[in-house]
Amino acid sequence: MPLPMGHTAIGLATYELSTNNNSKRNSLKLIIFLTILANMPDFDVIIGLLIKWNGNAFHRGPTHSLLFALIMGFLASRAWKFSSQIPRVKFGVCFLIILSHVLGDFFFTSSPVSFFWPLEVSWSAGHSGWSDVLNTVFFQGFQDAGIIIGCSISIILIRLIKAHRQTLFDFKIRQKPLNK
Ligand SMILES: [Zn+2]
Repeated sequence: MPLPMGHTAIGLATYELSTNNNSKRNSLKLIIFLTILANMPDFDVIIGLLIKWNGNAFHRGPTHSLLFALIMGFLASRAWKFSSQIPRVKFGVCFLIILSHVLGDFFFTSSPVSFFWPLEVSWSAGHSGWSDVLNTVFFQGFQDAGIIIGCSISIILIRLIKAHRQTLFDFKIRQKPLNK
């Protein structure tokens, strides 16, 4: 199952695919911002732990839906207006990164998500207390090794393709005056 590291890797690969803005892609602020977006749907685990002492109580409900990705993607794309510390990322990109979490859960786990909430809702079953959640997050991250390696390779390949395209573009621009 994708855990925070796995979701972060999927989110960073999604960012790489969905934007051509390469100037700030290695900035720490941007990486932190993207990490929060990629893991945002799982904040329902913290709410469940705080209210019911059960991380599964509200898990995979409304936060794992298309509507949540749309609303939170919109708000995240406007967040820079409130603090200069928050990077400016387009709505479509914020939306896709939050959506990548829901799709990651859908494709890499057997439990359902609530994609079309409020038309459907699929709460997570079972009970997981603080120690279960912390243990899973900190000690079972190795389960995501395949996802992290796959996403890292994808990011490298996408960057190589972009760099190649840029070189071709620069070459054509330089050639143009000569053809006249
Ligand atoms: Zn999730």
